[in-house]
Amino acid sequence: MKKIYTADSAAMAWHIRNVLEQHDIYAEVKNEKLASIAGETPITETMPEVWVKPLFAKRAEQIVQEVLNSDDSPEGEDWICMTCGEENTASFDICWNCQDPAN
Ligand SMILES: [Zn+2]
Repeated sequence: MKKIYTADSAAMAWHIRNVLEQHDIYAEVKNEKLASIAGETPITETMPEVWVKPLFAKRAEQIVQEVLNSDDSPEGEDWICMTCGEENTASFDICWNCQDPAN
């Protein structure tokens, strides 16, 4: 097995894994359990990792790049307009209230 991605959260690692499986690439998430004891271990040692078979590593890395480069958060996060303080949903590029761009 070969490590192709180090995620900053277990959720991201599993997301990557799911995407890889959609491409018929079997992937494993490692270190996930360690993340739950973060605080006792240096954070760099608790980052969840995504591993695949070496045969698939190149293709998997391409897919990961595509995932990371695409705007892969349909839900996204709500944002607060810095100009008027109104809350906007992630799908808004500009503030619904004052039309200022998302900042
Ligand atoms: Zn606004």
